[in-house]
Amino acid sequence: MSTKPSPAPRALSVDEYASGVRSGNRSLLARAITLVESTNPAHNRQAQDLLQELLPYTGQAIRLGITGVPGVGKSTTIDQLGVNLVAAGHKVAVLAVDPTSRRTGGSILGDKTRMNRLAMEPNAFIRPSPSSGTLGGVTRKTRETMALVEAAGFDVVIVETVGVGQSETAVSDMVDFFLVLLLAGGGDDLQGIKKGIIEIADMIAINKADGDNKVRAERAAGEYRGALSIIEPRSATWQPPVVTISGAHNAGLDDLWARILDHRRKTTATGEHASRRQEQAVGWMRDMIEDRLLAALRAHPKVGTELPVLERDVREGRMMPTRAVDRIMALMGLEASA
Ligand code: GDP
Repeated sequence: MSTKPSPAPRALSVDEYASGVRSGNRSLLARAITLVESTNPAHNRQAQDLLQELLPYTGQAIRLGITGVPGVGKSTTIDQLGVNLVAAGHKVAVLAVDPTSRRTGGSILGDKTRMNRLAMEPNAFIRPSPSSGTLGGVTRKTRETMALVEAAGFDVVIVETVGVGQSETAVSDMVDFFLVLLLAGGGDDLQGIKKGIIEIADMIAINKADGDNKVRAERAAGEYRGALSIIEPRSATWQPPVVTISGAHNAGLDDLWARILDHRRKTTATGEHASRRQEQAVGWMRDMIEDRLLAALRAHPKVGTELPVLERDVREGRMMPTRAVDRIMALMGLEASA
């Protein structure tokens, strides 16, 4: 427990972290992210001070979420899109939200080796998913990491996720634009799509529209256009388009990016962009309140000893669940004793 991590680099002050991040120093940025991801309470306090100090320098990036099943071509597409954007003068950060990374013993997303060309670019930064285990923990850390990379001058932040549990909703709640990658299936394409995903998509891109697959991809795009046209769009300004791309052949990616910029322009003009960001900030706060309350509950010594007893009483029918909850609240000092 008490063993210190061996030859640790010199501890830095919040100011040192802040100026390092702002100057775009990659190793300090990586250390700042490690600080944010740490579960050590002292690190956490320092991380919060750092984020507060960097707040004025955040928020300028285009935040793009990308989802799709394994094999759809997320890493190939992000690699190519990222290289294109860097060539156009952007600084591109790629983050990942993968709540399964702990269980599988390694991140299946955001791994550097999956985006070989982008990983070589000095103006790109690729960070695998934090491995905290729960979706709530992973998304909180990813939001904080997003603030750090923005303060470091990255003007495009791509957040990648596979559709595990609620991770798509969590990512769509932290980005400006949510892109869903799909493949042309064997005819009954619409059945392959996860329920609910169409509602949160700002654009659908049918990938691998190349070679023999091109015609099928176009046909699938037509079907999705039909499906989208009967759904009430999330935004009054934006009807989610359906496009075909080939990440591997760099086809359709310029058009895809142009549409993302068009979305930014339109939603900025209507004020929708600003209000989406505001709602996301408040949503982030609410999520954190829940996280912190739960953490306080779990860490509470009296609750720790009483909870198993109460659970047994509830299980065996001796106590109403509501009464047990009152008891826990009282132990936490949140309500008068039951
Ligand atoms: P991910 O799991 O979603 O990240 O998918 P990958 O990017 O790793 O791609 C899965 C497989 O599909 C790999 O073998 C890629 O080479 C291939 N692939 C990705 N994009 C394309 C594409 O646009 N066209 C074709 N034909 N293959 C692709």
